[in-house]
Amino acid sequence: MEPPAFRQHHPAGPAYRRGWVDEAVAAIEADQCRTADTHLIRLIVPALTGIDIYLKDESTHPTGSLKHRLARSLFLYALCNGHICEGTPVVEASSGSTAVSEAYFAQMINVPFYAVMPRTTSAEKIAAIEHYGGNCHLIDDGRALYAEAAALAARLNGHYMDQFTFAERATDWRGNNNIAESIFTQLKGEPRPLPDWIVMGAGTGGTSATIGRYLRYRQYPTRLCVADVEHSAFFDCFRTQDRSHVCERPSLIEGVGRPRCEPSFVPGVVDRMMKIPDAATIAAMSLLSRRLGRTVGGSTGANFLALCRIASEMRKANQTGSLVTLICDSGERYRQSYYEPAWLRARGLDPAPFEAALSSFLATGEPLDFVVDDVVNPQGAGSRQAP
Ligand SMILES: *Cc1c(COP(=O)(O)O)cnc(C)c1O
Repeated sequence: MEPPAFRQHHPAGPAYRRGWVDEAVAAIEADQCRTADTHLIRLIVPALTGIDIYLKDESTHPTGSLKHRLARSLFLYALCNGHICEGTPVVEASSGSTAVSEAYFAQMINVPFYAVMPRTTSAEKIAAIEHYGGNCHLIDDGRALYAEAAALAARLNGHYMDQFTFAERATDWRGNNNIAESIFTQLKGEPRPLPDWIVMGAGTGGTSATIGRYLRYRQYPTRLCVADVEHSAFFDCFRTQDRSHVCERPSLIEGVGRPRCEPSFVPGVVDRMMKIPDAATIAAMSLLSRRLGRTVGGSTGANFLALCRIASEMRKANQTGSLVTLICDSGERYRQSYYEPAWLRARGLDPAPFEAALSSFLATGEPLDFVVDDVVNPQGAGSRQAP
């Protein structure tokens, strides 16, 4: 990836003021200081005695999703690399949660923010971005999203954040209370503080990269399972060790599943991947929401389903241990989609059989009997022991 071109307010230019950068970084750090860590929820499942299940609740960030962490990291990375200076317009290609979280931080440090997104983006999303002072730049051809974002940044003499490229390197994977360190710190007082598996989906791939790197850096025995969804290139790329796979149809599950193997996806630190059918994702989402007494988003359903498959294997093998996954966002944003039976029917999705199987597993601990595509890291490099 080419470094951003020099701008008029590059350190050599007249508009650059180091004091402004200091203030911007300080503002983001102070915001972090005022923030409580997100909760690690223990899910009580009496039928699974000996297998402890934890959910890291990323829905409670001020901007409602785990993209809050990513946006903070991307802004600090861009500020400390001299890519954002006083008044630099910031541009992102995102119709989703990333743009909402980035608008929040752009407003905090007082730089203009532009989200480039398809004209079909929902009015709620646009309102959320505008709520934080962001501008929505709507385009007709969704395929031109990235090129348009780069072009807009060039026209404005601004900075293109490019989440899919920079997510993996913007986050400090060794620590600094990244999501992995936070999980392990919060598990300290638990009966089984070193989880057997952490399960996470992939959108940019940044979160799974941070977790996988951290596990290796700290030499933990914990393994990383990535739950992919339908209409996504990640699983095939992992299975074949070939990054060139693409997928024509867009993912139905917001935040996860990508048409190409994004640069921020780091397969070498992933021990196992599962490809979860969308109907099963929706079933797990609904079931988990009922158990928690509040709604979770679609990607969380895929995470939870993959976790339950691992729990079922552990039961069958008479193993005890602990498992962790993430609540990536809440279900509020999806009332008109994943929680709307007519929306599901229109897309041919029938979660009922999956819901019955999962519900019976959680009630009795009897094996979950449906199969999904499932592959262990073909490089073998990731696993300390075969799953
Ligand atoms: C971005 C996102 C993910 C995936 O996280 P990455 O770190 O980008 O791989 C999962 N769920 C939701 C709701 C997201 O917005």
